[in-house]
Parts: sequence; C-alpha cells; structure tokens
Amino acid sequence: MIHKTSWIWDKRFLRHDTGKIQYMFEGGEVVEPCEEFENKHRMTVIKEMIEKSGLAKHLVRQSPYEATEEDLLRIHTKSHIQRVQTECKAGTREIGPEAYASSETEHIARLSAGAVMKAVDTVMKDGEIRKVYAQIRPPGHHASSDQAMGFCFYNNVAVGAAYAIEHYGLERVVILDWDVHHGNGTQDIFYERDDVLVISIHEENYFPLESGQVHEVGQGKGEGYNVNIPVPSMTGDEGYQYVFESIIAPFISQFEPELIIISAGQDANALDPISRLMVTREGFKYMANKMRKLAETHCEGRLIVAQEGGYNLAYLPIATMGVIEGLTGIDVNWKDPHVLPKRKTPTTLFQAVDDVMNYQKRFWKFAEKKSFC
Ligand SMILES: [Zn+2]
Repeated sequence: MIHKTSWIWDKRFLRHDTGKIQYMFEGGEVVEPCEEFENKHRMTVIKEMIEKSGLAKHLVRQSPYEATEEDLLRIHTKSHIQRVQTECKAGTREIGPEAYASSETEHIARLSAGAVMKAVDTVMKDGEIRKVYAQIRPPGHHASSDQAMGFCFYNNVAVGAAYAIEHYGLERVVILDWDVHHGNGTQDIFYERDDVLVISIHEENYFPLESGQVHEVGQGKGEGYNVNIPVPSMTGDEGYQYVFESIIAPFISQFEPELIIISAGQDANALDPISRLMVTREGFKYMANKMRKLAETHCEGRLIVAQEGGYNLAYLPIATMGVIEGLTGIDVNWKDPHVLPKRKTPTTLFQAVDDVMNYQKRFWKFAEKKSFC
C-alpha cells in the first residue's frame, strides 16, 4: 500500500514578525535596513512552489492546532514559557540570543509546535496518511528547555516527540536534524534520555560554536543516544549521500524507531546566504527518499518532516521541492537551472597559487614562499 502524504500549513505563520537587520556605525550612520533572514516570505515561496509545481494535488491538506501549556511543559520549563509570553506581550524584540519576536510570536510558536503534534496524531491514527510535511515557523531546534535562541522559541520537534511518547506510548523515536546549524536545543532536551535518538548533521565549527562536536554522545541513560555529525564546507550532494549510507542508516536500523521526525532546515542548500554546504534539490530529494525507505522498513512508514531553516528565497522552495519529491516519491517535471557540475578532485589553495605562479613566472616576479608562509 502506498501511504498518502499530508501538508500541514496555516496562514497565521505569516504573522510572526522578526523585524529588520540594521547595522549602525559610529556617529549613528545606518545602512538601509533589510528583512531578517527568518521572515514570512520564506513561507510564501514554499507554499507557491507546492501549489504551482502540481505537488499540492498529491498532498492531503491539514491545519495545525496550538500546543497547550501542558504540551510545552513536557520539555520546557514553566519559567521559559512565562518569559516568552511576558516578553512578547511587552514588545521585546530579542528574547533570547538572536531570537527575534513580535507581539503575536508566542501564539504562533505554539501553533508551530502544535503542528508537529498534529502530524504525530495523523501518522499514529490515520491508516492512510503516514508521511507529513509540516510547513511551519518559527523554527524550533535551537530552543532548549529554558532558552529561546536563533529564531527559535519552542522546540517543535521535541514537543512532538515527547507527545508521541507520552500520549501514544511510543518507546523509540528518532529525530534527524539536517538543518545546516547544530540542533543544540534538541540535543539539550534529550541528552539524558534513551527513548529519543537525536542525530544532527551540520556544518562544522559554525552555529552555535559551543556545541555540535562528535564527543557529545549523551549522558547517563542517554549515553550513546546523541550523535553529532559535523561536516566540512563544500560537502555537497555526494558527501551527504556518503554520510547517510555509511552512518545515519546504520544508526536508524539498529535503533529500530517507531517514528522518525526530521528537523528539516534546507539551509544547507547550494545558494543559501548563511551556509557553505552546497546541497541541491537532488541532494534533498535523495535524503528524504532515503528516510522514507528507512521509515517504511522500521516504523510502518511513519515519517514527519518539520520545517526549520533555509534563507535564500529563490532556492529554498526548490530545495524543499526536492524534500517533498523524496517524501512522496513523486517527481516534478522541472529542470533545476542550478544543478552543479560534478566536482573534480578539489585543489588545495597552495596548489592553486602554485599553478598560477608556474604559468606567470615568465612575466612576473614573486616573493619567496617562505617569506610569508
Ligand atoms: Zn539553520
């Protein structure tokens, strides 16, 4: 039986306002402010892509509900929830490191977390729908139990996983985080638990700088249930495929999850302004397809894809199209103009400089290398 795929979306996600980026120099000189990276247009372009590519007719449209305080308390502290509520009401813009809010943010953040709960209800109760794409904002994976951070207020996938465990009695849930940034909030929340295997693949030495290292493997009962995979810039589609086949698939097969939730930030894409990992639509299609097959093998197809980051308005929808193609198994007949040529063996910078010197040394003089190396 081919399981159906749901698309959870609500136009209220557009009402969360992160404000503008503004650089001020000495003397009060200001560069023309521009929209914050995490903005409502990200949602509009993804929605348009789903509708205009023809994918929408293959998806079952669903609406989210707001997570209650009881739902949030499964993973967040009461003081954190109260702080988010109070600061939003007071109109504070930054209510945690790089977590920009507006007056409506708290409600929309509950809706974002509730969307993952709705996705859990769907894959657990509906016999026909076993795969969900939750198109949500604000994102969640940097939010820890007690802190908002990096555009995130409540940890959406963690709220969903905790709900699946408590409400549906699941014993093993996988959270795979392929956002280009480390899912530090999710790691923090489940660090001492063995019922949620958290795997994060992210750009090395990036954000947050103080977490995401390979030696962070979990603690106490959770030891061995936290996996960090920091990868170098330029990893690309083939590099991701190598990581999925050689590490991620074996982890998931051995853990035998009853549900897989993906923190799906498509900000590892080739044109993203804040990453250098060079993944294309084909790479994202491969990743979602691989996870769909693993879900079919291990957990009766139960797979939830929850949107996290992704900031290039031109390519985010194309990268996300790849995700939905992989999730549904349906290919959109459209040629990606941004497909990258297969890389030759990369040269080092020293080789590149030597090559130029060798061709140009007949015409120009160069300093002895040892004088500046
Ligand atoms: Zn990110």
